[in-house]
Amino acid sequence: MARIVMKFGGTSVAGLERIRNVARRVQKEVEAGNEVAVVVSAMSGETDRLVGFCREAAPLYDPAEYDAVVSSGEQVTSGLLAIVLKSMGLKARSWFGWQIPIHTTDAYANSRIESIDTERLTKAMSSGEVAVVAGFQGVSDEGRVTTLGRGGSDTSAVALAAALEADRCDIYTDVDGVYTTDPRIVSRARRLDRVTYEEMLELASVGAKVLQTRSVGLAMKARTRLRVLSSFGDPDLPPDGGTLIVSEDEIRESDMERQIITGIAYDKSEAKVTLMGVPDKPGAVAQIFSLLATAYIHVDMIVQNVAYDSHTTDVTFTVPKAQLSHVLDILEKAKSEIGFDRVMKNDNVCKVSIVGVGMRSHPGVAATMFNSLADRGINILAITTSEIKVSVLIDDAYTELAVRVLHTAYGLDADMRPVNEEAVA
Ligand code: ADP
Ligand code: ASP
Ligand code: MG
Repeated sequence: MARIVMKFGGTSVAGLERIRNVARRVQKEVEAGNEVAVVVSAMSGETDRLVGFCREAAPLYDPAEYDAVVSSGEQVTSGLLAIVLKSMGLKARSWFGWQIPIHTTDAYANSRIESIDTERLTKAMSSGEVAVVAGFQGVSDEGRVTTLGRGGSDTSAVALAAALEADRCDIYTDVDGVYTTDPRIVSRARRLDRVTYEEMLELASVGAKVLQTRSVGLAMKARTRLRVLSSFGDPDLPPDGGTLIVSEDEIRESDMERQIITGIAYDKSEAKVTLMGVPDKPGAVAQIFSLLATAYIHVDMIVQNVAYDSHTTDVTFTVPKAQLSHVLDILEKAKSEIGFDRVMKNDNVCKVSIVGVGMRSHPGVAATMFNSLADRGINILAITTSEIKVSVLIDDAYTELAVRVLHTAYGLDADMRPVNEEAVA
């Protein structure tokens, strides 16, 4: 007997027919003798609808009340799935974050899980009852409902699997695994049988929304057996395909044909800001970013130009589009204090990233990226790198073209032989 956590995303629970399908998958696991906790998202589109209501209600809303509103989508689906499971003769009940409880920080709208009390849940599960847990939500120390940031049900599932010491955590979604890039924009994207925690973490953090970044970080720390599977298809048959998230050692031992680049992701959620004529003296850049940090602005890419006149320089950086007007306001107010000439913004940009552990041992990977984009006349506005990732900022009109061109350049197309380490050697 195994203890498992199954998570179903928004599209998988969009409507009663799909919830019945989910229930049959859960039933299969129960019949196989497993103890099961199921984490559900809100029906697809529901969280957007609820967020829309908050925005319409007032331009500046209290995040604690936002959480009260947006957490309701998951409550509906957990109750509905429990009703359907019971109607099929299974023992089941719904659990909300505060009932378990899942303790979180009080950073409403973007809380982090601090701990999960598993006592009541394990008691119920060991009596054969399926625990149907509302994803995305927890409870703060002051007893108020919190939410975990968009896509947070993945994190609920992994955190629960870690706390329950589950044998596996299966993330059921609307694609049958993790692909070399978003299969919705590149039809020749290839499904990966396995991907390392490190690569998945990078891919998620640069825009592959198939798993929330924090869920991967948690799984990596707890060494959770994490799989991404399709919830569609015949629930009476085992799901085919799927991607297993594994440690690097597991891949190295078995995958001789490992390609240099594992995946490509894109992110249109950031905007570019440039400060012109910043004084070229120690402390100027520190002053800019300290101001932004104090306002909880998440800065991503940063580029500082050489000061040709030895007096002033330009500083370019990216921030979340949602925070752009706040950032411009902060900068304008501090203009004379910092001493820059003017500020420019561009919110029609996209960050495209290539990720792969093979990059560590292969020079020239970034050059291939820059050349491939140059050949198509795509201009690069900013660059950042990490050990296993290169990101470029481009005009967002070229997003699909850039992703497709790079996918081909690194031999990732489904009908191509991968560009692997042997080929390069
Ligand atoms: P869920 O509602 O099940 O949580 P999401 O919409 O959050 O599902 O995530 C699944 C989506 O992630 C897919 O429909 C796909 O468009 C997108 N996606 C982006 N990058 C990738 C990738 N590399 N592999 C698979 N899916 C990806
Ligand atoms: N329903 C939430 C969202 O849309 C959480 C999730 O689906 O993971 O962001
Ligand atoms: Mg999701």
